Amino acid sequence: MTTPAKHSPARPPGTGRSAGLSSSEAALRLERHGPNVIASVPSIPLWSRVAAQLRDPLVLVLLAAVLLTLATADYPDAVVIGLVVVANTAVGVAQEVRADRAVEALGALSAPGALVVRDGTERQVPAAAVVPGDTVVLGAGDIVAADGRLVRAEALLVDESTATGESVPVDKTAAPGAVPGDADPGTTGPSTVLAGTVVVRGRGVAEVTATGAESTLGQVAAQLRPRSRATPLQRRLAGLGRVLAAVAVGLSVVVFGWGLARGQGFELMAVTAISLAVAAVPESLPAVVTLSLALGAQRMAARHAIVRHLPAVETLGSVTVLATDKTGTLTEGVMFAERVWTPAASAVLSGRGYRPAGAVTVVPDDVAGRLAIREVLRAAALCGDASLVAPQPPDDGDWSALGDPTEAALLAAAAKAGVDPAEELTAGPRVAEVPFDSARRRMTTLHRRPDGRVEVLLKGAPEAVLTTDVLAEPPAITSEAMAEAAHLAARGYRVLAIAAGVRPDLPEPAEAAERGLRLLGLVALEDPPKASAGATLAGCREAGITPVLITGDHPGTALAVAQRVGIPLGAAGRAVTGGELARGPVADPTAVRVFARTSAAQKLDIVRAWQEAGAVTAMTGDGVNDGPALRRADIGVAMGHRGSEVARQAADLVLADDELATVVAAVEEGRRVYDNIRRFLLYAMAGGAAEILVMLTGPAFGMALPLLAGQILWINLLTHGLTGVAMGAEPASPDAMHRPPRPPEQQVLGDGLWQRVLLLGAVVTAGSLAAALWVDRDGGPAQSTLFLALLAAQLGVCVGLRERWPARGHPFLPLAVLASAGLGLAALYLPALAGLLHTVPLSGAELLPVGAVALVSAAAARAVRRR
Ligand code: ADP
Ligand code: MG
Repeated sequence: MTTPAKHSPARPPGTGRSAGLSSSEAALRLERHGPNVIASVPSIPLWSRVAAQLRDPLVLVLLAAVLLTLATADYPDAVVIGLVVVANTAVGVAQEVRADRAVEALGALSAPGALVVRDGTERQVPAAAVVPGDTVVLGAGDIVAADGRLVRAEALLVDESTATGESVPVDKTAAPGAVPGDADPGTTGPSTVLAGTVVVRGRGVAEVTATGAESTLGQVAAQLRPRSRATPLQRRLAGLGRVLAAVAVGLSVVVFGWGLARGQGFELMAVTAISLAVAAVPESLPAVVTLSLALGAQRMAARHAIVRHLPAVETLGSVTVLATDKTGTLTEGVMFAERVWTPAASAVLSGRGYRPAGAVTVVPDDVAGRLAIREVLRAAALCGDASLVAPQPPDDGDWSALGDPTEAALLAAAAKAGVDPAEELTAGPRVAEVPFDSARRRMTTLHRRPDGRVEVLLKGAPEAVLTTDVLAEPPAITSEAMAEAAHLAARGYRVLAIAAGVRPDLPEPAEAAERGLRLLGLVALEDPPKASAGATLAGCREAGITPVLITGDHPGTALAVAQRVGIPLGAAGRAVTGGELARGPVADPTAVRVFARTSAAQKLDIVRAWQEAGAVTAMTGDGVNDGPALRRADIGVAMGHRGSEVARQAADLVLADDELATVVAAVEEGRRVYDNIRRFLLYAMAGGAAEILVMLTGPAFGMALPLLAGQILWINLLTHGLTGVAMGAEPASPDAMHRPPRPPEQQVLGDGLWQRVLLLGAVVTAGSLAAALWVDRDGGPAQSTLFLALLAAQLGVCVGLRERWPARGHPFLPLAVLASAGLGLAALYLPALAGLLHTVPLSGAELLPVGAVALVSAAAARAVRRR
């Protein structure tokens, strides 16, 4: 299912390939033509952000209140309400700008790249830096960065559906005598490639003819520009916000009418009711949510998980299934050939890693046996595109592989048997090939021998090679090889079958050479599981996430690896192959935990089956064909280094460190964001409920007008502003990854949140009123006590809801609570503020009940805080 996405530097550039531009020339052209990006979305000017904030209906109501207070010469209230409008707008705009910046920074982290030739060497650059005249190198899985004309193409197949709508991939050939710059930009043909199209297989080199807005992609892009959509949570919260606003406004009208009925002044009651409505509606909710998501995305990036859309942050928290591939994700992806089998002899190779040195122990150790082993390894090594890289002096590490690890391992093994591929290729240069692809599971190269005949070398998965189509061998030999392959796979080896033949001439098409071949033997590669894989999967299961293995490899190999890394087999109890899925005997694919020999299309079917069963699936993939499955999965996961460009651009989550454990870290961050949003909701709604209840029930206790407009707004500012935002930065709860994921269908206020809102609202209301009545009994300032108690009780709730105290390294919330408490006291003890808000200082004895209410509220919040 994974296809080597990286280019093969094994063979030197052939003729018709330029040395590319010099970096200085490229810089000049970049200046002249501009960056290779489609017109970016213009940034929103500050004034329009401010205007958007002021258009909010609640703010409009507040502005009306300012006018009303001014008209009646109630200047202190006008000032307070004005202040609230300014503060609200400033906080709203600041949060929006911050969230936008975070999203932009993430976009830059996952920006597409391109391989270009500059100053004579291949170099990875951001796609935006590609200029006309550049030489770009294309390989399977690449997204073409700009329009270009092919100067070299090898079995190049390009999917042009993004540019032309044509869904069948198109074969491409090099233009004879192509001269840079003579092609018409934006026209498609057999020798042109278009920006935004996808290389399905093969390789090519193109001279860039048009970039940016002049390219085909630039011309289609205007219609395709992605719009930033609200996340599902944001949409659900917007609905909730509307309901809350209606309820708050309705109750405020009741407060207003009741006040009038009791003989309060019209203007006084109007301003009070307006302020109450404003205070009770959690108007900062959307901003807090966006900011929480953006902060979550930033924290994920710091943990190497780059989300490409904000909604993914939220979805990650509810992932229930993790479908992972095997090679390189659960295993090291550093392979080495350990065993070779031929009908005549078998061998064991020593030496791990890619170092091309080691012993070959052959049984039986005679001339014929040694020759047979050497022949298998020679064919296996020549039929490939990888190369081995010696350790570089400064870091002096181990040998490494360039290209497909499977093929690099075959090179190292051949060297152990004394084969020198460079020498062999000089004697028999490669003249044609049928590239590997995951659907065919085999690959063939054709070599011109000194005698003029053509040597055919083929390697591939045993089932794709040991067939009567490919081999001209007696059934006894193929069935013996098949049994041996199954035996090796069951021991966890990745098994390749190698075949060869000689033909008088070059067949057309090259595929025709894959017939009548002789079986040389089998090579068994060891790909040890990563040391971290077991712990990562155990962590998944602990968090209630079901791991599923999906691989293109043999069922035996898949089962052996699943067992070694600890993936339980589930109800199916065995590995199911893609073929079985396609034929339909698998009743319930969600009962299967190990899938082998799957194609990209079958991956898509598996995701679909899970989704129909109500699961939220994260799925890794890095191959050219994985795009649809990655897009379909709720969270498509691509590897930042190993994955192909297509996979990265189709994914929701890109792992900068290629580590599966990073997905689990991202899930934790996602759960944290969701928990924090729910905690904020509980806090803000309980506070709003208390404010309304106090105003509604106060008169029954002899408080004609429990709180003044300015006082309500001041409380609102201190509770929703600082502390609200700080709640979005709270650390993950210690049990975040030790409980099952939240059910995908859970409502925002589900799982008992509603009830807890009402309970805490009642506690805060009762406590504040009790404190005020207590002070009132001795003729003290009841209104100021109620004001401070209502604020203190809400801050108490905020403190009580916190998961752990103290949490070192997370000072925002404690600081915000302290600052809010300070500003609350300032409202009483700072004469200027006290004048505006019509408050009076409390004595020490009068502060005692306020403190008690804060403690009781904190205790109540602590009792109900879980999730
Ligand atoms: P995976 O890498 O998960 O096994 P692939 O689709 O890449 O999935 O490979 C499927 C099978 O094709 C492999 O199990 C192996 O038998 C065979 N194969 C893989 N790479 C090559 C290659 N470069 N040449 C020939 N056969 C290969
Ligand atoms: Mg592979």
